[in-house]
Amino acid sequence: MTTAPYTAQDLQQLAEQAGRDLEEASALDVLRWAADTFGPRFCVTSSMEDAVVSHLASRALPGVDVVFLDTGYHFPETIGTRDAVAAVMDVNVITLTPVQTVAEQDAQYGEKLHDRDPDLCCALRKVAPLEAGLKGYDAWATGLRRDESPTRANTPVVGWDARRQKVKIAPIARWTQEDVEAYVAEHGVLTNPLLTDGYASVGCAPCTRRVLEGEDARAGRWAGIGKTECGIHQ
Ligand code: SF4
Repeated sequence: MTTAPYTAQDLQQLAEQAGRDLEEASALDVLRWAADTFGPRFCVTSSMEDAVVSHLASRALPGVDVVFLDTGYHFPETIGTRDAVAAVMDVNVITLTPVQTVAEQDAQYGEKLHDRDPDLCCALRKVAPLEAGLKGYDAWATGLRRDESPTRANTPVVGWDARRQKVKIAPIARWTQEDVEAYVAEHGVLTNPLLTDGYASVGCAPCTRRVLEGEDARAGRWAGIGKTECGIHQ
């Protein structure tokens, strides 16, 4: 296993080469490559919508770090899923929190910032803590899939995260919803109970609603305000 420190230039070259080589590889092989290449300097980020990528990563790298952003606005079901993942899977769950509690943010910016300026709320409660939390890693994996929404249709399996100067891996980028469900069924993977209660994508409670017939999976996120991403993946 190679764990030598890489320069940013090394990482960019690795990302670009792997992006070409691994486009057709299985999700597990992509994660095995990440485990072999980065060892403990690789982590998975999870929204605790399901534990599919965490499960796959634990097969490639037992004890892998799984990073969860606790914005303070999650559904109880999401926190419960996080706790269950930590209890039963061979992963090391790391919970990141924003600098300010919700109460402190309310005191500085006023209540319900998410209704008035969701970009600022996401910047404070998601983007900044993740930025800080990823500092010790060379590569991170996400559960992004191309079929989730038009904004994710070109997601590379392995790409270069220029903003953070890290390798960004989307091992299930090519999967469909059916692929996810088949993997969950085959391996008994934990999923957020809200997925069986009309939610197709689970984020913070104030900014997430159930999806309607025919809507894409992320239509219930920031519905009606034209926002489609929190900023982590932009
Ligand atoms: S999803 Fe909503 S509540 Fe969560 S950080 Fe973004 S704006 Fe705030």
